Amino acid sequence: MHQVANQKIIVVEDEADILEVLEFNLAQDGFDVVCSQEGEKGLELVQQEKPDLVLLDLMLPDLNGLEICRRLKSDAATQDIPIMMVTAKGKESDIVLGLGLGADDYITKPFNVGELIARVKAVLRRAAAAREGAPAKRIVCQGIAIDADKHEVLVDGQLAELTVTEFRLLHALASAPGRVFTRDQLMEQAMGDEVIVLDRNIDVHIGSVRKKLGRYRDLVETVWGVGYRFREQDD
Ligand code: CA
Repeated sequence: MHQVANQKIIVVEDEADILEVLEFNLAQDGFDVVCSQEGEKGLELVQQEKPDLVLLDLMLPDLNGLEICRRLKSDAATQDIPIMMVTAKGKESDIVLGLGLGADDYITKPFNVGELIARVKAVLRRAAAAREGAPAKRIVCQGIAIDADKHEVLVDGQLAELTVTEFRLLHALASAPGRVFTRDQLMEQAMGDEVIVLDRNIDVHIGSVRKKLGRYRDLVETVWGVGYRFREQDD
């Protein structure tokens, strides 16, 4: 029988008890887990094994997490491997964000294991979506033109004032006409790496997008009980 390979996660964390919790729970969830308590060794493991994701502690005794992150993200061989930083609350997470080292997400200690695993999966999904190919830079449909570079939407040649969230939602939908997006998926698209948006907010944002599309509002279709999709064009 053909067996689908598990996704591999490398965990670099010097505190044995946290490492054990992560290893146990990730393995329970079906991931192959490789651990290192040292930074140098962890970096080597990532370079050799090219995992699907790295969970990286910030404060390590030898080589710190920021340096590991910087090296992985500046090497073409490893730059596409998603990195999730594990930091102490407050200052450390500010540092991670402030440096813009290209970590794909971060979580603060003490963390809830369920939340951490959900975030790991979200990062993996985003990475998979990115591999499938970046969406078109410019999408034109009936009287609507969506320009991803300029972050602009023209409706019958007139600039429509969309918020960042509205733009991201419309762009995600219009990039894949006919594909149904659940509210969770749209939330991920809308958020980027920012904070949680409440489920019902998606409906509000979509309502607002439709309003701004004017006579083309019906291009954004509701799929009852599931979510939304952008209407497929028959040509
Ligand atoms: Ca540590």
